Amino acid sequence: MSDNEGLPLRQIPAVHRIIAHPRLISLGERYGRAVVKRAIEKTLDAIRSGAPVNPLLEVIVPLVEDEILRSVSPSLRKVINATGVILHTNLGRSPLAETAIEAVSRACGYSNLELDLETGQRGSRQAHVESLLKTLTGAEAALVVNNNAAAVLLVLTTLASGRQVIVSRGELVEIGGSFRVPDVMAMSGAILAEVGTTNKTRIGDYRAAIGAETAALLKVHPSNYRITGFTQSASLSELVALGEEFSIPVIFDAGSGLLGEGLAGKGSEEPLVQCAIKEGAAAVTFSGDKLLGGPQAGVIAGRADLVKACAKNPLARALRIDKLSLAALEATLRLYMDPDIARKEVPVLRMVTRPLQEVRNAAHRFKSAIERDLGVDALSARLEVVESEASIGGGSMPGTAIESWAVKIVPAGVKVSELARSLRLGNPAVIGRIEDNALIIDFRTVLPGDEEPLRRAVARVLAGDHSGSKANT
Ligand SMILES: *Cc1c(COP(=O)(O)O)cnc(C)c1O
Repeated sequence: MSDNEGLPLRQIPAVHRIIAHPRLISLGERYGRAVVKRAIEKTLDAIRSGAPVNPLLEVIVPLVEDEILRSVSPSLRKVINATGVILHTNLGRSPLAETAIEAVSRACGYSNLELDLETGQRGSRQAHVESLLKTLTGAEAALVVNNNAAAVLLVLTTLASGRQVIVSRGELVEIGGSFRVPDVMAMSGAILAEVGTTNKTRIGDYRAAIGAETAALLKVHPSNYRITGFTQSASLSELVALGEEFSIPVIFDAGSGLLGEGLAGKGSEEPLVQCAIKEGAAAVTFSGDKLLGGPQAGVIAGRADLVKACAKNPLARALRIDKLSLAALEATLRLYMDPDIARKEVPVLRMVTRPLQEVRNAAHRFKSAIERDLGVDALSARLEVVESEASIGGGSMPGTAIESWAVKIVPAGVKVSELARSLRLGNPAVIGRIEDNALIIDFRTVLPGDEEPLRRAVARVLAGDHSGSKANT
């Protein structure tokens, strides 16, 4: 039984009367009459089944206006990442470099995606990135697809369908819930031959498993976890030497796509793609949107014959990269032609290597500005600049914390979960980290251009406006 059951429905104005209201007519011109009509119906439904509302036009029209604005605001929105997790899968992993954003925008219209401008003949979309990838990785050939899961699937299907692939039990990883090495292997039609144990796999274990049906040796970088203690694994060079003895290719799933020494900051144990190629991996696969700092994409770099076979596989068409991602990838890779430029321009690398003092200054700037604008006494919270631990995230460098600074917000009067919710529903949305009844705003992941919008969004909420999406329209 709803609260308004007893309300005479005749008192609620008819849809045709509401829709004729001048303010709604003007919103109808902007967003379409159908949007307004749906908003009216939704509002009236809510009134009929909710708490008693005065059924006057003056009351109903603003409710409809709110509903219209809610319904037309995009679902996919800008978020300020104050979590301290640089590659946050839920927040779209890697933010793009400025030149990559421009490249995407250029590629939105017609482009020479598959046209060779020199000859006027049909070209390959791969041509826009292949030579860059060859130069940067040292590989003979390269192919890009939709993501790294697709890259691994394509390589395994092409090289090993119906045949055996040897993998260490310590590398049968799950990444991000949906990428499980055994499942991808099954999907590819390759037959998984597990060797060794969870913590120890020796080169001899691989040797003992090699047979006439062995199509490849697979090494997977355990991106998101680390086995410590009593452990052993075969190195890529050992595997390559063994593979050469039996003429079996070694596939290396490197995960993150690190393309330069020192780019991942101190203490990095991420494998370098060019090292893996140099050590003799026949095919190396990696993501475009992890440490590489580009768009979602998967790269296969390696021996020309293998890459060519992958490109010819009909599955490649189903897994192909789209033009916008390709544009962003090309622009990102160009930045890597000079590692110093990459470090400055690729946001992920900039965040990893940003001097601690700068991060600390940003936290202090934020705190002072908010306290100055709102007045310390008027604040519904206590702010404190604190040390913090950021991380790479995205399944890269598990256990490696990056020193950082944050502003700790201890709300007074509202629960921290409520404060977090108001910030999430603001525009832009702000996502922090909840720790011990406080909200942590970690400045390692706040892009410099977002400092001002972040300050405004937080100030709005701390000034007592918990109205979420209504803010800043
Ligand atoms: C992240 C990761 C993948 C999956 O890559 P996506 O680009 O997310 O598809 C596969 N293998 C390894 C080792 C990874 O780290």
